[in-house]
Amino acid sequence: MVKKIAVFWLFLGLSFIYPARGIYADEAVRIAILQDSASFYLRVKGAFEIQDESGRSVYKGKNLKSRPIKADSGKIILPGAVLNLSRFRIFSKNGYIYINNRLYRGVVSIIPKDTTRFLVVNELDLEHYLRGILCNEIAPWWPLDALKAQAVVARTYALYQRQFTKNKDFDLTNDIYSQVYGGKTSEKWRSNRAVDLTKGEILTFKGNLFPAYYHAACGGHTEDASMLWKVDLAPLKGVRCVFCAASPHFKWQAEISSEEIKSKLSAKGFKMDYFDEIEIVSLNPSGRINELEIKSADNSLVISAKDFRQALGPNLIRSTNFTLKIISAKVYFAGLGWGHGVGLCQWGMHELAKSGKNYKEILEYYYPESKLTRRLLF
Ligand SMILES: [Zn+2]
Repeated sequence: MVKKIAVFWLFLGLSFIYPARGIYADEAVRIAILQDSASFYLRVKGAFEIQDESGRSVYKGKNLKSRPIKADSGKIILPGAVLNLSRFRIFSKNGYIYINNRLYRGVVSIIPKDTTRFLVVNELDLEHYLRGILCNEIAPWWPLDALKAQAVVARTYALYQRQFTKNKDFDLTNDIYSQVYGGKTSEKWRSNRAVDLTKGEILTFKGNLFPAYYHAACGGHTEDASMLWKVDLAPLKGVRCVFCAASPHFKWQAEISSEEIKSKLSAKGFKMDYFDEIEIVSLNPSGRINELEIKSADNSLVISAKDFRQALGPNLIRSTNFTLKIISAKVYFAGLGWGHGVGLCQWGMHELAKSGKNYKEILEYYYPESKLTRRLLF
């Protein structure tokens, strides 16, 4: 692919290294690696070029030593040149661009949002992007078929999300709100292999991409996506899963003072002066809590379990499948699973792969009626 692009560029008589967006747009994803950042460190190994928004070359250099780039300075000081800060794209001949000492493949865009904040976006080939997330989503020593299933799911999820971001500066973030991406620094040999072995493979439902959600452990039954979001699709209706019972994250416990619950709810706009009872109002078909009522003698607040979990902290209240009791101004929670519970259960997948199921069987199980297919790559 790289060779093809280079030949194409040569043919056009243009000098540099990397194609502009558009040439390989079908394979590229744009990841926000810094948002609202006042400054960052930039380092480049080997030859590099900086282009402005129109694609005009404004700087060429080699081996840039680590230097701070500050939004409030209004400029980028480089050896032998000072650039007034605006939207720039940095192309490296070998793909060695470091942002805050983390190595990124592909192209890095610097987008000043105002005089105090940057957006920094890494644009790269989809398959390389997957290499940079897989180990952050599951451990590289997991069975190979688990890694392969995760690669297919992550590829599907990224391509699905990318459909809605054409007019935005980026397609995905680098955090838990999409998929945790750490650039080349996060790559491991085994997970890279899983990406390569499934190259281009995605899941579809009735010929279309769908949001292939996943989570750490379902706790017994995966959730119907329509209980949480406006997504009502056969592959995301929820399945029984006994496999994650062996997981270290199958059960969780938490204790929080009534005072802290009150203040955390209040911070999210749910005002409660006082409460002495939390009642489970209704359950979803999967067994998770749908709504809770927080009440005192003269006050009552009905809240969705999803909002309740978000307000208290999703890593403290690990799922919406819990029971609770209040003992002297403290609330004790005991729950099952970790995560929203929709789609693939990663710890269930781990057990299935360990018992000899291949990645196709695992995906068929967690996304019923979906089809494993290969994207056409050019
Ligand atoms: Zn499970």
